[in-house]
Amino acid sequence: MIKFDNIQIKYGDFIAIDNLNLEINEGEFFTFLGPSGCGKSTTLRALVGFLDPSAGRIEVNGKDVTKLEPEKRGIGIVFQSYALFPTMTVFDNIAFGLKVKKVAPDVIKAKVAAVAAKIKISDQQLKRNVSELSGGQQQRVCIAGAIILSPKLIICDEPIASLDLAIQVQILDLIQKINQEEGISFIFITHNLPAVYRIADRILLLYHGEVQEIQEVED
Ligand code: ADP
Ligand code: MG
Repeated sequence: MIKFDNIQIKYGDFIAIDNLNLEINEGEFFTFLGPSGCGKSTTLRALVGFLDPSAGRIEVNGKDVTKLEPEKRGIGIVFQSYALFPTMTVFDNIAFGLKVKKVAPDVIKAKVAAVAAKIKISDQQLKRNVSELSGGQQQRVCIAGAIILSPKLIICDEPIASLDLAIQVQILDLIQKINQEEGISFIFITHNLPAVYRIADRILLLYHGEVQEIQEVED
């Protein structure tokens, strides 16, 4: 479903990613692992369209998206820095993407309610200002805001790194459930291999912008 074909990504003269060839399958839970600075975030930024590769092409479902605007790629994004609007309520944060698409208010309301139930965000919490929530709860709001747009793929760039260990496990359980029940593919970046090992289908080891190894994880 996702294909990187001979991708090179540069920052000025510096080659951050070189000759990347990689395919990620529908419904897969795919993990990027590698030391800080090896190019994990850079690869995902190119996939979602926040930066242009200097060579190669990226396909989503057989379609060349290398030059397509980010919002047209149908990819959900969950980052570590929560990327929420701090002055808005939880409801408005989750609904944001639908409002941008000018979806009717009653449809938005129903969709937010359905997603909130799935992610276990209470009615009470929906009315609160997002900045009043804990880090783990804010991360849930991010996940809700991503899945409400029904993406085929969600990319998570170190979404749990700053959370307490127990909360990390909760968020991972939630993501695993979404992966299995909704069939949404995930690309998950983390430094914490033990945490994702039981969920991952495959793990890519990246080093200095080059693929070292892709490991299949057995059930
Ligand atoms: P990772 O996410 O694996 O920690 P990054 O993809 O953020 O790594 O970075 C890969 C390499 O590209 C690093 O050497 C980093 O310093 C460099 N880099 C990242 N972003 C920029 C940028 N905006 N300008 C110049 N170099 C960058
Ligand atoms: Mg990074």
